[in-house]
Amino acid sequence: MLPAHVRFLFSDYFDGCGRALPGRAVRMEGHAHTDHADGYSPARACVERALAMGLDILVFAEHMRRGAPWRDAYFYEIEALKAEFAGRLRIMCGIEATALAGQGGLDTDPQSLERAELVVGSVHGLWAAGQGGDRDPFHRPSEQETLCAETELLHALACDPRVHVIGHPFGTYFERFGHPPAQAVLDLAQLAARQGKALEINVRHMDAPWFASLLAPAAGAGLLFWPASDAHLARHVGRAAMALFPAEFPDTHSL
Ligand SMILES: [Zn+2]
Ligand SMILES: [Zn+2]
Repeated sequence: MLPAHVRFLFSDYFDGCGRALPGRAVRMEGHAHTDHADGYSPARACVERALAMGLDILVFAEHMRRGAPWRDAYFYEIEALKAEFAGRLRIMCGIEATALAGQGGLDTDPQSLERAELVVGSVHGLWAAGQGGDRDPFHRPSEQETLCAETELLHALACDPRVHVIGHPFGTYFERFGHPPAQAVLDLAQLAARQGKALEINVRHMDAPWFASLLAPAAGAGLLFWPASDAHLARHVGRAAMALFPAEFPDTHSL
């Protein structure tokens, strides 16, 4: 369950046709990486970008696999930035953890789960998710195999009490096969809503407008949505908010 102060109701944002409602945007970036892992920009540059755009909230969600050597440095830096910019920008120190098939379920460690303010649980490569199992790492799953395997992992994330936000849902399927079946998305959305989990609308790994339009008519109280750029460069911070709520950012296209 998300902390009360970071719960955003999807139905507060869109009309029944998936169009963003004016004046309802939360000026938020829900998924930014840093140069601690595979991002290219220092965290401070992401903060400066968020301030330049007039965002209210910046969520860092660094990859935090088990034994990640950057763990302490990452937490130390983001917590220091959070204190430094308090009152000007709400910075949240989150992590992104990869779903694993089988026991454990999440490729991260208890120390990171303890220290993170929130956890984005994501599927990153279906066969890698079988690490330690007997799957052939070079196997190329068919469309149906991909859908079944990703759906299974996404449902496990939705039910995992350690996870708050489901990262780029069906992003693996989308990269190879395009839009997933609408019913699979709606089923996941319903499960996420029941579990109090937010669902990312991720502009890097998904067709965000299609996803938003599909979910908007079915949106109701309890379905939470999370604008996520999955920014790996500071200049990508805020992309999701701009794409979903262009009217809210009339002066930032030149940034
Ligand atoms: Zn990811
Ligand atoms: Zn990410």
